[in-house]
Amino acid sequence: MPELPEVEALTRFLDGRIGGRIVERCELAAFAALKTVEPPLSSLVGRRARSCIRRGKYLCFELDDRWLVVHLARGGWIRWRDPLPPERGRPGRGPLALRVGFAPGAGEGVSPTGSDGEAPVGFDVTEAGTEKRLALWVVARPEEVEGLRTLGVEPLDPAFDVDCLARLMAGAAGNVKTVLASQSVIAGIGNAYSDEILHLARLSPYKPARTLTPDEVARLHGAVVSTLTDAVSRAVGQDAAALKGDKKRAMRVHGRTGQACPECGDVVREVSFATKSLQYCATCQTAGKPLADRRLSRLLK
Ligand SMILES: [Zn+2]
Repeated sequence: MPELPEVEALTRFLDGRIGGRIVERCELAAFAALKTVEPPLSSLVGRRARSCIRRGKYLCFELDDRWLVVHLARGGWIRWRDPLPPERGRPGRGPLALRVGFAPGAGEGVSPTGSDGEAPVGFDVTEAGTEKRLALWVVARPEEVEGLRTLGVEPLDPAFDVDCLARLMAGAAGNVKTVLASQSVIAGIGNAYSDEILHLARLSPYKPARTLTPDEVARLHGAVVSTLTDAVSRAVGQDAAALKGDKKRAMRVHGRTGQACPECGDVVREVSFATKSLQYCATCQTAGKPLADRRLSRLLK
């Protein structure tokens, strides 16, 4: 699933390409993905792209006085097309969810990106896999999207300091892993980066959030900021297609079950859930004690 660093890199990439361009085509291929009825998607045609910004894991395209908001869910991605294929985006078995095309020619204040500056360009919103969770909204303001309106603090915002994190953890129910990935508490962190952050902070994912000591909160804050800052700087400026692969390569424990912990050499362990799993190092994070894998314990009974 794309998380804050990948979505940040994608929005910066797109923001640098769409500004000033006029929407010429807007073709929905995955009908279930569109969550709004009014204003219609077709009302975006003829509007001028102003910006593309990120909030949490949402991409927000400003098209004059309308916004197209995209949540990529687990298997979603946005592919810049230069040139954009002339074929209409149609419902089918492929990954295409939405095709947006811009009128030929560069936008205002934008240097041409096409080979001759005249080729029609645009982007495809795609979703891989069978689990279709990608979501699109057409709204007057991004805050009309409920999940976006209720987002918590942005962890790369200066307002997110140690005191802020201490207040959030003290007021949260649940373990630190769950709270870190709760979008209404801190925006943009998901399963992968929460594993990485907790490993760097040397904290058990199961530690109740409200029991963190001031020293642990300070460590966690440092780990959140450095993990995300490093990942954003790696991701920005990369070819968008290469982003996902690089994300995996740079992970220390997430997705590395059975491999050696880069800090201590112990084996990276896993706890599995219905549709996902978390990875951690027992030596670094849980005083050497492996966490109970509930699924495995159930199977063994
Ligand atoms: Zn370790």
